[in-house]
Amino acid sequence: MEDKILQKLPGAQKNVLLAKYTTYKIGGPAKYFFVAKTKEDLMNAIKIAKEAKLPVFILGGGSNLLISEKGFKGLVIKIDISNIEFNVDKSFVGAGVNITKLSYLSAEKGLSGLEWASGMPGTVGGAIYGHAQAFGTKVSEVIESVEAVDSKSFKIVNLTKEQCKFSLKNSVFKKNRNLVIISAVLHFKPEDAEKIKSKIKEFLEYRKTKHPTNFPSAGSVFVNPEIKIKNKKLLEKFPELKEFNEKGTIPAGFLIAKSGLAGNKIGNAQISEKHANFIINLGGADAKSVMGLIKLAQKKVKKNFGVLLEPEVQFIGF
Ligand SMILES: Cc1cc2nc3c(=O)[nH]c(=O)nc-3n(C[C@H](O)[C@H](O)[C@H](O)COP(=O)(O)OP(=O)(O)OC[C@H]3O[C@@H](n4cnc5c(N)ncnc54)[C@H](O)[C@@H]3O)c2cc1C
Repeated sequence: MEDKILQKLPGAQKNVLLAKYTTYKIGGPAKYFFVAKTKEDLMNAIKIAKEAKLPVFILGGGSNLLISEKGFKGLVIKIDISNIEFNVDKSFVGAGVNITKLSYLSAEKGLSGLEWASGMPGTVGGAIYGHAQAFGTKVSEVIESVEAVDSKSFKIVNLTKEQCKFSLKNSVFKKNRNLVIISAVLHFKPEDAEKIKSKIKEFLEYRKTKHPTNFPSAGSVFVNPEIKIKNKKLLEKFPELKEFNEKGTIPAGFLIAKSGLAGNKIGNAQISEKHANFIINLGGADAKSVMGLIKLAQKKVKKNFGVLLEPEVQFIGF
């Protein structure tokens, strides 16, 4: 007898290994897996899952996820809505567009605003959800509005930038998981294409030099805390803290490295020696090993600096 979900949702697959869809190369099976190429695909898939009382997980580029070997016992909808329409004042982009690709394409058009995002493997939807940022620039700086579907009411909503409630690595979409991002209106600034490309090159060089880009990872594991450390002993021992206090942000990688954890391994997962806010998969690492290092970093940094690091990576199946 054919499976009811597969019957109702043509194109859906059963028992798909999610490791293939995460930059960590880690993750067990999705009971059901469906790629939504249009708004209608997405709405239909949500509706079918709801009728069958199946939990839904929305997947972008899988670059900010740690999925356990248990996987996800529901329907994973991979967002592949990838329309792009460039205009000088307003550009329209689907949530599934790869953000690095978008930064290259906008550079070609002489449109500035996403140079910092080149090298990020995620989608536009994922970047909005987690309020992605790098090199002092945030994705919200190019956002004008976001179109989403409320999977509870099935209503399409258009949220202004203010309504997206962007804050440090956070947005309304992280707080209200019923909202699924469909597309966004972006506002780029006209700029000389060669200037934009040279900035992109600079940022890519930086990433290559400072980040462990030759190993699977999910980028920075922890949010850089926006706090000041006032403890006199710590300020004497780590003079760099004064500069971070002035900036208002302390790199999580600094706190982890100064806790002596760079290079620490559990199984085949390792806290990168190159950048201690990256936990890398040396090959065949399991989710438990990565999670073990996350807990270890939290514990040691809390003990040494009194700071509880907040994970940026989203956890599924734990
Ligand atoms: C090498 C590397 C470099 C990185 N550099 C950076 C960086 O410079 N700055 C930075 O901020 N991050 C960086 N990251 C982390 C990651 O790329 C970003 O967090 C990215 O925005 C995640 O997007 P994604 O599409 O991969 O989301 P996913 O990992 O697929 O999902 C993350 C979360 O977003 C939700 N989500 C995804 N799409 C939607 C949607 N359409 N609607 C609603 N929810 C959605 C998911 O449900 C999930 O909870 C890096 C990662 C790697 C591996």
